[in-house]
Amino acid sequence: MALLQISEPGQSTNPHEHRLAAGIDLGTTNSLIASVKSGLAETLPDEQGNHSLPSVVRYCENEIIVGEAAKLAAADDPLNTISSVKRYMGRGLNDIKELGGRRPYEFADGDSAVPRIHTVAGDVSPVEVSSEILKSLKERAEASLGGTLSGVVITVPAYFDDAQRQATKDAGKLAGLNVLRLLNEPTAAAVAYGLDKQAEGVIAVYDLGGGTFDISILRLNKGVFEVMATAGDTALGGDDFDYAIAKWIMDEAGIHDDTSHHQMRRLMRDACAAKEALTSADVAALNIELDNGTSWHGELTRELFNQLISPLIQKTLLPCRRALRDAGVDTTEVQSVVMVGGSTRVPHVRDKVAAFFQQQPLTDINPDTVVAMGAAIQADILAGNKADGDLLLLDVIPLSLGLETMGGLVEKVISRNTTIPVARAQDFTTFKDGQTAMSIHALQGERELVSDCRSLGRFALHGIPPMVAGAARIRVTFQVDADGLLSVTAREETTGVESGIEVKPSYGLTDTEIETMLRDSIEHAEDDVASRMLREQQVEAERVLEALEAALADDGDLLSAAERNEIELVAKKLIELSKGSDVRAIKDGISALDKSATEFVARRMDGNIKKALAGHNVNEF
Ligand code: ADP
Ligand code: MG
Repeated sequence: MALLQISEPGQSTNPHEHRLAAGIDLGTTNSLIASVKSGLAETLPDEQGNHSLPSVVRYCENEIIVGEAAKLAAADDPLNTISSVKRYMGRGLNDIKELGGRRPYEFADGDSAVPRIHTVAGDVSPVEVSSEILKSLKERAEASLGGTLSGVVITVPAYFDDAQRQATKDAGKLAGLNVLRLLNEPTAAAVAYGLDKQAEGVIAVYDLGGGTFDISILRLNKGVFEVMATAGDTALGGDDFDYAIAKWIMDEAGIHDDTSHHQMRRLMRDACAAKEALTSADVAALNIELDNGTSWHGELTRELFNQLISPLIQKTLLPCRRALRDAGVDTTEVQSVVMVGGSTRVPHVRDKVAAFFQQQPLTDINPDTVVAMGAAIQADILAGNKADGDLLLLDVIPLSLGLETMGGLVEKVISRNTTIPVARAQDFTTFKDGQTAMSIHALQGERELVSDCRSLGRFALHGIPPMVAGAARIRVTFQVDADGLLSVTAREETTGVESGIEVKPSYGLTDTEIETMLRDSIEHAEDDVASRMLREQQVEAERVLEALEAALADDGDLLSAAERNEIELVAKKLIELSKGSDVRAIKDGISALDKSATEFVARRMDGNIKKALAGHNVNEF
C-alpha cells in the first residue's frame, strides 16, 4: 500500500542523495511553502517567523516588494500593489472584466490575449506577478533548507482549466523553479490527512479560501486517492465576506459606491480584520477613517455578520450537491469532511457545512497549511526521495470527450468525471463504398449535437483500403494522460494505417463555460434525444438510398422497367420524408423501401454468387 509506505517517517534515501523538494500552496490570498524534513511535512517560515506569505506584490520604481510589507502598503499605493492575482491567471481581459469591480488597478488596453496591469515599474502580466510570489517563497525555502531546490509541486484549485494551469506552470518556470507537477489543492489536503488517519472511504474536501471555493469528492481505497468529482466557484471566498461587511459599513456610514480607491482599500482591510476577529469574539469594533478626514465608529456582532454571509455560504452548498451527484454518492456515504482554507475558520461556515453533511467536519490539521503540507509530501516522492513509495493520484476530466459521427452527432468516447489517466477505444466504419479517407473530429461537451459541443480538433485518416461501406474497421483511441492532455489516434485495423492529434481538452475554457455547457446538457437532454433520433433516421435513409443507387447502377438490368419504376417511387417518397422531421415516418419509409427492394436484392445476390463462382470449381471455396 503506497500510502502506508510514505507515511513511515525517516524512510528517506541517503542524506547525500536527498534532493531538496518543496510543496507550494500558491493561494489567492496567502501562499505557503512546505518541505518534508525527517519524514514529516512542515511549512517553512521567513526570517521573522511568518509561515504564511500574503500573495501581494507591490511594484515600486526600482524594487519589487512581496508579502506583508506589500499588503500594508496596499491602502496607500493601491494602483501599484497587486493582490488576488490568482483570479487573473490564464484569463483574458474580458473574463477579468466579468469578475467584477473590486480591483482598483488599471489594466492596459490593447488586443494582447494576456492582460497586463499598469504599474510604475511598467506593465506586468499576472504570470509575472505570480512569479514574484514564487521567487520569494523559493528564496525563503533555500535559506531555510540550506541548498537549491531541485523541484517543487505547486497546487491549483481543482477547477482550474488548462490555461490557468499552464499560466501557473509558466509562473513557476519564470521564478526559476523546476515544477515537478501541479496538484489539485483538495487532493493535496487529502494527502496530508491521509497520512495521519490512513482512512478508507469517501471523503469530501471543502476548501473555502480567500478567493476560491472548491468541493471535491475523493475516494480513498487501498492507499490510492481517486478524485470522484469536483465542483466549485472560482469567484467565491473570504474576500466576498470582506466585501459584504464593507458594503454594510458603506450603507451605515453613508459612503457612496463611487468612493476612492483609497477608501475602498481601507474599508476592505478593516472589514477583513473585523471578520477575523469575529471568529473568536462575539462583537468587533469598527473605526473607519473617511476620506473627508473624519471617522465613523460602529460595531458588528457575530450574529449580524452571520446574516451577511449566510447567502454566500449557501452558495457553496450548490456545488457540494452537484459534486455528490456527479460522484454518485449520498451525504450519508461521506465518511469524513476535510476543511481547508482560512475561511473555514469562520464558525458559521463550520456549522452550515456540518448541517449539510450531517457530521462534524475535520479541522484538526491547520486549514491554512494542510494544502502546502500535502504538496510537500508529493514533491518529496516525485523528487525521488522515497525508495518505492509512489502515491498514485488520480484526477477526473470535467467534460465528456467524443467524436463527430454522420449527421452531426456526437458519440461520447469518454464520459465526464472519468478518472485519468484513461484510454478508451471505439470502432467506427466507413459510410460509403470505396471510401479511402475518414475525417475525425474530436469534441468536448455533454450535448448530442456537434454544433452544441466544443470542437477540440480535426484530423484525417488516409489510406484506408477501398472496401464496401461498413467493412473497414477503424479503431479510434482517446487517451488522456495524468496531466489532462488528450491524444486521439485512429487506426485502420486491416492495414495498420494510423493518424493522430494531440489536443488540450479544456484549453481556454473558463469554469463558467464548463458550467454553462453542463447546465445546457441537462436542460436540453430531451430535445437532444429527439434530434439525435431524427438525425439517425435521416442518416440511415441516406445510407439506404445511396446503396440503392449504387446497386441500380451496377445491376439495374436485373429489373424490368415497371419493377424499377416502383422501387424508384418508394425511394422518392423516402427522400421527401427524410427532409421532414417525422422520425416515425422516415423509419416507415426506410422499411417500405427495404420491402420493395427485397426481390431486387435477392436477384443481385444470386447474380453475384454466379459471378464469383464463374471459372472456379466449387471445391475451391
Ligand atoms: P487562499 O487559498 O485563497 O489563499 P487562505 O486559505 O489563505 O486563502 O484563506 C484566506 C482567507 O481566510 C482570507 O479571506 C482570510 O481573511 C480568511 N481568514 C484567515 N484567518 C481567518 C480567521 N481567523 N477567521 C476568518 N477568516 C479568516
Ligand atoms: Mg487555499
